[in-house]
Amino acid sequence: MTDRTPPAVHLRIGAERRSAGSGGVYQHVDPVTGRPDAEIPLAGAAEVDEAVRAAHAAFPAWRATRPADRRRLLHRLADLLDANGAEFARRGTLDNGTPLTVSAGFVPQSSEWTRYYAGWADKISSELNAFHTKDGEIGYTLAQPYGVIGVIITWNGPLISLAMKLPAALAAGNTVVVKPSELTPFSGELFADLVEEAGFPPGVVNILPGAPEAGAALVAHSLVRKVSFTGGPDTARKILHACAEQMKPSCMELGGKSANIIFDDANLDVACSHGTFMSVAVLSGQGCALPTRMLVHEPVYEQVVGRVAEIAKNVTVGDPFDPAVVSGPVVSKAALDRIISMIERASLDGARLVTGGGRLEGALADGYFIEPTVFADVDPASELAQKEVFGPVLAITPFATESEALEIANSTPYGLSAYIQTADLHRAHRLADELVAGEVLVNGAVNLGVHRPFGGVGMSGFGKEGGRAGLDEFLQVKSVAIV
Ligand code: NAD
Repeated sequence: MTDRTPPAVHLRIGAERRSAGSGGVYQHVDPVTGRPDAEIPLAGAAEVDEAVRAAHAAFPAWRATRPADRRRLLHRLADLLDANGAEFARRGTLDNGTPLTVSAGFVPQSSEWTRYYAGWADKISSELNAFHTKDGEIGYTLAQPYGVIGVIITWNGPLISLAMKLPAALAAGNTVVVKPSELTPFSGELFADLVEEAGFPPGVVNILPGAPEAGAALVAHSLVRKVSFTGGPDTARKILHACAEQMKPSCMELGGKSANIIFDDANLDVACSHGTFMSVAVLSGQGCALPTRMLVHEPVYEQVVGRVAEIAKNVTVGDPFDPAVVSGPVVSKAALDRIISMIERASLDGARLVTGGGRLEGALADGYFIEPTVFADVDPASELAQKEVFGPVLAITPFATESEALEIANSTPYGLSAYIQTADLHRAHRLADELVAGEVLVNGAVNLGVHRPFGGVGMSGFGKEGGRAGLDEFLQVKSVAIV
């Protein structure tokens, strides 16, 4: 049986690990039982300042480190992530109740992101601009690191969120100060251990458990040259206001309300199982890019609603340490209350509840478990269709024509992901061009491939993680001209 003892958490500043910080203590709560299970030391503004100064001091040498050596260190880190897969899976489950099988899946994905950017470390190139002016000017660009990057992440994927930001920032020659979510401190602690074991010089990576105040202090620090944030739009606005004071650039990975358009020519076996599993089972619906609005072509509408309800009813929700469980609790009491009240309002708004709709009863009634919930006949203008729930709730809406589907899909302020299920590739290309989204996934293509840039538009934010664009986020271009 898997050990459920939470590990001790520290503030990681330069070569130091501290058991206490001036930000006080956060009482971590096990979402399976609703009971406190660990006390987490929190960084305050004083430790944020120390960590930023450590990162700033480490920057010149890290920037001057041969790119091939940066590559080797990142490869070593990737190998260590894999070698510690079982412990990362355990910590991911302790962090936020993600089922063990799912948190185990994040480990190879995270090592893959790390290896991908290790490969970029020695391939950062410049452009030569030979302007044939009469004075014979030769121009070229230099792609240079910023310096200290302030990284602030959320709680739904504590390991993969680190892997989506740090390897690219480090490959580009920056140093980092990371503030993980106060809700999920355990994965970051192990990540920091492995950074040390891999041999990164002290100060290159600093990880500070902290509350929002620590995040705000990090953003406001004048030695932090860029902010890379993953979280919600309300926090993003506060961070952007603070960045504006110093003209500080940022990358904003925010939420979504992604449409999944199912046409009558789609493979409905794949479309129904993918659409249901990805909305009400995976991460208990707590994923930014999940297809939480299903738009269904009228000829197959009632058939799809019936099939989705049946699949949702059979999702195994329960103790995340049970290997048979695919869906665990939501992260906190606050999340539970918010999701249940959105479910109640959806019914009042006239949506038809086809399955779920309440908390899990029985042995797990004290935990933060919600039944996989499916609403049909959802009005595209209603709250359920317009606002991110971040819980296991799917909204299904019918459409008659391709143009109506497009109009509904593009009718929210978000623009993170969009999904299309169709056998008609002309239609897929047409819609891929017109959907307002940072990525379009067709016929079950998977999320978060590292070779692909990921990141939204509109209220889903700006900037990219993944692919060459994810590296470029951490480089600034300087122009040089010589006559
Ligand atoms: P949140 O915005 O409340 O918190 C995110 C992080 O910001 C936490 O570490 C928090 O401590 C910190 N923070 C809070 N206030 C701050 C402030 N004033 N200054 C600096 N830092 C501050 O978000 P959440 O509720 O933890 O996460 C859920 C949101 O994250 C959802 O909207 C979800 O869609 C989004 N998300 C986006 C992605 C993506 O890659 N696009 C991935 C996962 C989650």
